[in-house]
Amino acid sequence: SLNLEAACRQSWDVIVIGAGPAGAVAALQLARQNLRILLVERKTFPRYKVCGCCLNQRAITALQQIGLGDLLSSAGAVPLTQFRMQYQGRDAVVTLPGGLAVSREVFDTQLVQSAIDAGAEFLQETSAMLVGTSENQTSRTVELCCQGQTAGSASAKIILAADGLGHPSLQNCAGFDMQVAPDSRIGVGAAFTVKDHAAYPAGMIHMAIHRSGYAGLVRVEGENLNLAAAIDRDFIKQCAGPANAVLQILRESGSAILPEMHQCSFKGTLPVTRKTLRPVGDRLFVLGDAAGYLEPFTGEGMANAITEGMA
Ligand SMILES: Cc1cc2nc3c(=O)[nH]c(=O)nc-3n(C[C@H](O)[C@H](O)[C@H](O)COP(=O)(O)OP(=O)(O)OC[C@H]3O[C@@H](n4cnc5c(N)ncnc54)[C@H](O)[C@@H]3O)c2cc1C
Repeated sequence: SLNLEAACRQSWDVIVIGAGPAGAVAALQLARQNLRILLVERKTFPRYKVCGCCLNQRAITALQQIGLGDLLSSAGAVPLTQFRMQYQGRDAVVTLPGGLAVSREVFDTQLVQSAIDAGAEFLQETSAMLVGTSENQTSRTVELCCQGQTAGSASAKIILAADGLGHPSLQNCAGFDMQVAPDSRIGVGAAFTVKDHAAYPAGMIHMAIHRSGYAGLVRVEGENLNLAAAIDRDFIKQCAGPANAVLQILRESGSAILPEMHQCSFKGTLPVTRKTLRPVGDRLFVLGDAAGYLEPFTGEGMANAITEGMA
């Protein structure tokens, strides 16, 4: 794999910032056109990401269109057949028209591998930050940081910012501020291995609903259960933390609380409801969650990220 010094020496056609579904699919499609692509990711893959992990039919069809139909079965994705909503002890179950559940560790890693196989270079554990337009206006430069220190810079004709919620890579660029809804919820998630699958069987999305938010649970590949919630910030404060808030939502909705839930570590996100005022700039396109955000309940986020990466 490419090291940072080599990435800085080369000139790239496109630098893609962020290796979630939007960035990985964009890198894959561009690499297939024999362009020189650098995909930069700040985390170490495979990495956890707060997400419900459910791909809807639109996402699956999009993956099939770009020849990645087999990726989901080799990832062990679980077919989804039912959606169960539970509120104050009452529940309703509807049949789903399709869908698959797969952990983001496995799914995103496989997408990145497809991009690498197509010829994209992948540089992980490196944060990219866009700097001003270069003087000759024929390229743009990103600063690359490793372990919190600027370690070099790389240039490309085009930059794709696919760095997710809050687009941190555009922090220093004027005009790319985000409008965050003052009453926005935050995302909270955890993944854990469970022994007893009776309460949350494979193939069912279980949604625990509460006036202060909701928590979705789904079996992904292996024995793993994924939990993702969107919760009012005031309620999290009132419950003294995200773990207690999730457990309270499950309890009040009448959903099962498993022993493993008391031991797992919950991760949070920035406030989710926000929009980017400007999705394009000079030699710059903003993709996926970086360009704005969809309400997580809709389960459309990954489909959008994939189709924007394809475009
Ligand atoms: C609670 C919750 C539940 C959800 N449930 C679902 C669901 O069931 N189905 C669904 O389709 N969607 C769901 N979503 C939405 C989905 O997670 C996102 O829409 C999707 O991940 C967006 O993909 P992306 O590629 O745009 O960004 P991301 O997946 O966020 O990827 C961005 C990547 O950029 C990297 N990065 C960030 N900054 C930098 C930087 N400066 N330099 C380099 N790399 C950087 C990050 O580490 C990350 O890997 C949910 C979201 C939440 C919060």
